[in-house]
Amino acid sequence: VTLDRGKVLASKDLQGRGDLEVAVEAVVVGTGAGGASAAAVLAERGLSVLVLEEGGYFDRRDFSAAPFDMLKKLYRDSGMTTAIGVPGSPSFPIPLGRCVGGSTTVNAGTCMRTPGRVIDSWRKDLGLTGLTNDGLAEFYERVEKDIHVEAPPLDSIGRNGLLLHAGASELGLRGGVLSRNAKGCRGSGVCSFGCPTDAKRSTLLSYVPRALAAGATLFANVKAERVRHERERARGIEAAVLDPETGAALRRLRVSAPIVVLACGACMTPVLLQKSKIGDSSGQLGRNFRVQPTSKIMAVFKDEVRAWAGIPQSYYVDAWHEEGILVESVALTPALGALSLPGVGREHAALMERVGHMASWGVMVTDTSHGRVRPGLRGASSFMTYQLNQTDARRLTLGLARTAEIALAAGAQVVYPPIFGVEPLRTREDCQRLARATGILAEQLDLGALHPQGTARMGPHGDTSVVDSFLEVHDVDGLFVTDGSVFPGSLEVNPQLTIMAFAVRTAEFIAARRDRYLKVSP
Ligand SMILES: Cc1cc2nc3c(=O)[nH]c(=O)nc-3n(C[C@H](O)[C@H](O)[C@H](O)COP(=O)(O)OP(=O)(O)OC[C@H]3O[C@@H](n4cnc5c(N)ncnc54)[C@H](O)[C@@H]3O)c2cc1C
Repeated sequence: VTLDRGKVLASKDLQGRGDLEVAVEAVVVGTGAGGASAAAVLAERGLSVLVLEEGGYFDRRDFSAAPFDMLKKLYRDSGMTTAIGVPGSPSFPIPLGRCVGGSTTVNAGTCMRTPGRVIDSWRKDLGLTGLTNDGLAEFYERVEKDIHVEAPPLDSIGRNGLLLHAGASELGLRGGVLSRNAKGCRGSGVCSFGCPTDAKRSTLLSYVPRALAAGATLFANVKAERVRHERERARGIEAAVLDPETGAALRRLRVSAPIVVLACGACMTPVLLQKSKIGDSSGQLGRNFRVQPTSKIMAVFKDEVRAWAGIPQSYYVDAWHEEGILVESVALTPALGALSLPGVGREHAALMERVGHMASWGVMVTDTSHGRVRPGLRGASSFMTYQLNQTDARRLTLGLARTAEIALAAGAQVVYPPIFGVEPLRTREDCQRLARATGILAEQLDLGALHPQGTARMGPHGDTSVVDSFLEVHDVDGLFVTDGSVFPGSLEVNPQLTIMAFAVRTAEFIAARRDRYLKVSP
C-alpha cells in the first residue's frame, strides 16, 4: 500500500484481499508512553514512520460510556490481565491499556521523576556508565513541557487528597500535591476510563498528534506478530490486521524497515521478542519482571468524603520513600471500590452504604521481588508470574499500618486494611501493633499493580542484559525497545515520565545516526 501520511487508518480502512506490504524507514510498535513519544521525535526529525497499535482508536466522544464498557474498549482482556502468584504469593490484577495512547489513555496522569539515587545506582552498580542525572535532566524537562506537567493547586484536588494532606500534616510527615499532565483538569474522577474533557495530555493527545502532524502514519487494530531480522540486523515487522470485535486476523501486513522500535509495554515486548527468537542471548528476556506492588486502605469518616469527586490520584506522602514505601491517594469509583471492601452479602451491602464517607489511599513499594513474563498459552497474550517475597510483604504491611495511622490522625473512625485475617483498625495502637507484626504472610495481602517494568533490561553487556544504555537490542542492529521493559530495577515512582524521557533520548540517538541505519546491506 502507499501510506496516507499523517493519517490514522483502522481495521476497516485496511480490509481487502491478499497481504499488505509497506516500506518505511522506521516502524514503531505501540502508542503508549514509550512508543508515541519515540514516533513523534523520529517523524519530526524527518524519517518516514509507520506506527502500529493493536488496540482501537478512540477519543473523548467514546469516553462517556459505563465503566465496564470502557474496560472492554480500552484495556487488554477487558482489564482482567493478572500476574499469577507462585505458591505462597498472591495473584493480582495488572491492568494494561490496549488502545491508541496505550496505558497513558487510562492512567491517572501522575508525573514524577525517578530519584537521582536510582540512576546513580544503575551507573555505579550495573556499569551503565553513560547514564547520568544531568544527562537525563534535559529529556525530563523536554517531556514535562511536551505533556504540560504541573502541580494543581491544593484547593482543587478533592477531599480524598485533602484528608491525606491533613493527616500527614497532623503527624508532621513530608508530602505534597502530585504533579500531573492534566492542565485544566475538572476533576471528573474517571481518568482510568479515558479523560472525558481532554485535559489529560496522554500520548493520545500529545505525542500521537505530533507524530501524525510530522507525517507519520498510524495503523490501529494491527498487531505485530514477529520482528523480521536477518544476519543480526532488523528488517521490519510481520503483523496482522485484526477484526476489532473478535480479535481474529483479517489480513497479513509485512512492513520493511531498517529501524524497528518496540514499545508494547513490559508485559508484551518480551513476548514479541521471544516469538521472533531474538534478543535473548543473555537468557534475561522476560525475567526481572518488576511491578511496584500496591495495596490500599479504605478509611471511613463521619462526614462525607465523596472520594470520586476530584482528582483521583492527587496527594503523596514520601516520608518513607528511602525505605521503599510511597503513599498516594487513589480514589476509586464506587463500583471498583466495592471490590476492596471486606465481607459478603448484608455485611458488604452495609459497608457499601457508607462508600460516600470513605477515603482510599494506596501504598506502593519498591520491589525486591520479581517475576517472569512468557508467551501465553492457547491464544492468551502473555503468561505472567510473580513472587512477592517476605521483605516486600513486610514493607507493604508496614506502609499500610502507617497509612492507616495517617487516616486516624485525619479523623477516620475506622480503617479497613487489605490484609486477609486482620481486623479493622480503630486506634493508633491497632496500627502500631500491625506495623510491628512479623507474622503476616505475602498470601494474606490484597495486591494490585500498574507499573510493569524490567523484562528487557538495560545493561552494558549482552551476556547479562537485553538492551544497551541507548536501548538498542545487544545482538540486533537497528532494533530498539523504548518502553517500561528496559529498566534494570524498580523506578520507585510512577513510571510514565521516565519511560517518555528515555524514549525521546533514544529517538534522538537514532535520528542522529540515521545514515548508519538506513544504509542496509543488500
Ligand atoms: C489504570 C492505570 C493507571 C496508571 N496511572 C499512572 C500514573 O498516574 N502515572 C504514571 O506514571 N503511570 C501510571 N500508570 C502506568 C503507566 O501508564 C505505564 O507505566 C506506561 O504507560 C507504560 O508505557 P509503555 O510504553 O511501557 O506501555 P503502554 O503505555 O502500556 O503501551 C503499550 C502499547 O503497545 C500496544 N501493543 C502491545 N503489544 C502490541 C503488538 N504486538 N502490536 C501492536 N501493539 C501492541 C498496546 O496495545 C499498548 O497500547 C498507570 C497504568 C494504569 C493501567
